[in-house]
Amino acid sequence: MIARRKFIQLSAVAAASCLVQAGREAQAQDLPQLSTDDPMANAMKYTHDSSTVAAAARANPAPDQSCANCALVQGNDGDAWRPCQIFPGKAVAAAGWCSVWAPKA
Ligand code: SF4
Repeated sequence: MIARRKFIQLSAVAAASCLVQAGREAQAQDLPQLSTDDPMANAMKYTHDSSTVAAAARANPAPDQSCANCALVQGNDGDAWRPCQIFPGKAVAAAGWCSVWAPKA
């Protein structure tokens, strides 16, 4: 009986975990994409395509900078659009870049 009770408890935890994960993904997908016309995006020199930014124009000299490898990006690796701590409520392009880019620790 104890094993059955334990199984039911673990199943409930697993089901709750799946619901939380599904909710998190839905939120990221529902975010509007950050526009390059956004005043804050302009101030931070945000672009959807990091390859258009000259390395010499960056304050941080680290190579291969994009939102996908920035310490401030959130969400799931591999997603084309992801939340960012600098632009709350908006999704940034994984291939994008802005002047706040910081390396992951
Ligand atoms: Fe991209 Fe990082 Fe700038 Fe956010 S802070 S827009 S993830 S480079």
